[in-house]
Amino acid sequence: MAKMNIVFIASEAAPLAKTGGLADVAGSLPLALSRLGHKVSVILPYYRKQVAASGVPIKPLKKSVNVWIDGVDRTAPLHQAKVDGVDFLLVEQDDLFDRDGLYGPAGGAYEDNFPRYLFFCRAALEASCLLSKPVDVFHCHDWQTGFVPLLLKTQYQHQTRIADAKSVYTIHNLAYQGVFPSFWLHRLGLPADYYHTGSFEFYSQINCMKAGIMAADHITTVSQTYAEEILTPEYGCNLNGFLGDHAGKLSGIVNGLDIENWDPATDKSITANYTTGKMQGKAACRAALQIDTGLASDTGQPLLTMISRLAEQKGVDLLLECIPHWLQKGYQLAILGSGEPAWEAMLQRLAAERPEQMYFFAGFDEKLARKIYAGGDIFLMPSRFEPCGLGQLMAMRYGNIPVVRATGGLKDTVTDYAQGKTQATGFAFAEANPAAFRDAVSAAVEVWGKPENWKRIVNNAVSRDSSWDASASAYLELYESLNN
Ligand code: ADP
Repeated sequence: MAKMNIVFIASEAAPLAKTGGLADVAGSLPLALSRLGHKVSVILPYYRKQVAASGVPIKPLKKSVNVWIDGVDRTAPLHQAKVDGVDFLLVEQDDLFDRDGLYGPAGGAYEDNFPRYLFFCRAALEASCLLSKPVDVFHCHDWQTGFVPLLLKTQYQHQTRIADAKSVYTIHNLAYQGVFPSFWLHRLGLPADYYHTGSFEFYSQINCMKAGIMAADHITTVSQTYAEEILTPEYGCNLNGFLGDHAGKLSGIVNGLDIENWDPATDKSITANYTTGKMQGKAACRAALQIDTGLASDTGQPLLTMISRLAEQKGVDLLLECIPHWLQKGYQLAILGSGEPAWEAMLQRLAAERPEQMYFFAGFDEKLARKIYAGGDIFLMPSRFEPCGLGQLMAMRYGNIPVVRATGGLKDTVTDYAQGKTQATGFAFAEANPAAFRDAVSAAVEVWGKPENWKRIVNNAVSRDSSWDASASAYLELYESLNN
């Protein structure tokens, strides 16, 4: 197999900048591909504050690119970071990217997000022309990079180093399409002859995701089930018809996890390490989590956990309906999340009423996340929809048994206890309502009360193969098929 030159263009990637699962994928899939012998570069905006907080050393590259945007000619210096075998290229433009948030304040969006990310798409294509070898594949992600495939096929065909590259566009979440007013069309110099319903026009507005879907050589989404779901009106976010027109180039490849980074056997953020067959450390993590969060120790009750963006997608309303019932039963809860301010306030209030039984931290904190994955008994993920979900993969790896709604990637990655007791790695429920969620948690708690049975589920979950091995090979096969 010839060595390929693969360029990821993404708006976030771990460990440099992260708000959710996209960063996990854009950080770990390149690593898996480079381990398979390919050259992978990841191009990101240079978010100075977040990158500095990551602690990864950055070097200026002594190269820059020039990009025109909204009537202004800008020069964007490039910076470089190396994490394992992967080269990160960072595009500097401080007035656009050196901000407190990546996309906006908590629960909100910056007003200039469209010019910010269109600038980034162009700068990334310009930067790719400076790479030492011609690009074979551009792999773009979500609405922020939706215009890359179209710009490549139109305004960048004169750049011989990238003109023949193929493009793969991955939809990590169809709910965020990047829809903006049409007045940007000429201000940003978009290819206006593509402004029609068969391309990026969407109810008289510009839709970045439609541009990606239309122009990419192949579209993927992050699980097989979600690839099927998005073709239906229920999950299609008004693009199911359009996606149906392009279904011939759509497939689902389930996300993996960087299993070295997320490994309870070596994780330095947790109180004690553990692994299959040697699980004693997990009890120490649980006890430490109770102490650190002010929860009562040794209650003989299960510790339910959740780590999530607080958005409608995540079933926060279902969670809020169920919490009083669980508190009444004596269960403990440790929740970490940020997002919708009203939900943060409600969770804050519930936790303040019973601090020994419920802990809530509003914010984004990876160290705390690791402690919660390690310390919890049961991990809650009642998503209304879930393209893949990384939380349940991390939870299983840390022996924190997920209770999930059977949708999208949750359905594809969690083996439900009701389907097969001996292989089970978690519990699933079908209907998105509080009663179904409560019942699934009750079923999990019942098994939790039988240590021998619970041990088997924990063992199955911890030893589940959530690595990138199979999925990275599937992406490579796809890249190769496009280049043949
Ligand atoms: P999404 O990308 O839709 O937010 P995923 O389950 O795919 O959901 O990925 C979420 C990722 O973000 C996981 O790595 C999870 O651990 C992390 N995460 C979510 N919320 C927080 C938080 N408040 N603090 C730390 N990590 C978080």
